[in-house]
Amino acid sequence: MEIQKGILVVISGFSGSGKGTVMKELLKRYPSDYALSVSATTRLPRDGEVEGREYFFKSVEQFEKMIANDELIEYAKYVSNYYGTPKAYVEEQLSEGRNVILEIETQGALNIKRKFTGTPLIFLTPPDAQTLYDRLVNRGSEPMEVIASRLRRAVEEAELVDQYDYRIVNDDLDQCVEEVHGLIQSVRDRVFANRKFAEHIKADLLQILKGER
Ligand code: 5GP
Repeated sequence: MEIQKGILVVISGFSGSGKGTVMKELLKRYPSDYALSVSATTRLPRDGEVEGREYFFKSVEQFEKMIANDELIEYAKYVSNYYGTPKAYVEEQLSEGRNVILEIETQGALNIKRKFTGTPLIFLTPPDAQTLYDRLVNRGSEPMEVIASRLRRAVEEAELVDQYDYRIVNDDLDQCVEEVHGLIQSVRDRVFANRKFAEHIKADLLQILKGER
């Protein structure tokens, strides 16, 4: 029988690790398998970013209202802005059988792991520190002081990498996308095989207990 349900997956990576590009490519290649959660943030849109596609852009007041109304699964502050995952979309997509990817920073990731035990945490890294620096500078979307803050944050985030379940190096885009896809599929297959086994054996044991066998 085809397994229809999806799982929640967390992907983190230093700013400049290329995770946005990897996610876009993953969704392009396997559109029916994945849904990428769109977060709310108080940071300003970058050139080319569209409301509701990259983020839902909010004022601090609006964001704090979302927190108070319990509309977020998790949220965190990252380089002086709020970022959070809206609950409704995630629940809807999971129930429709898609794997929902949360592309979030490390604090949020660890909160998800505490809340939904068993959620796989994947960390995407650039091949080395110099590549990370070059990517951030070449992106040209942030002034040098913001780049420096993001690099300082990367140093802090490096401390938490050991709490992740998997680490994937993003050197070659094509290879990285396939590695992420293969990993998620295998985790999902294992989760659902275990769940199916548990359901069967539970039903059989209950029958035996009732004396029906
Ligand atoms: P950026 O400003 O570069 O788009 O994102 C900055 C960081 O915030 C990235 O590490 C990104 O993964 C993270 N982020 C984006 N959305 C969320 C979210 O909903 N929750 C948390 N905790 N982090 C997020």
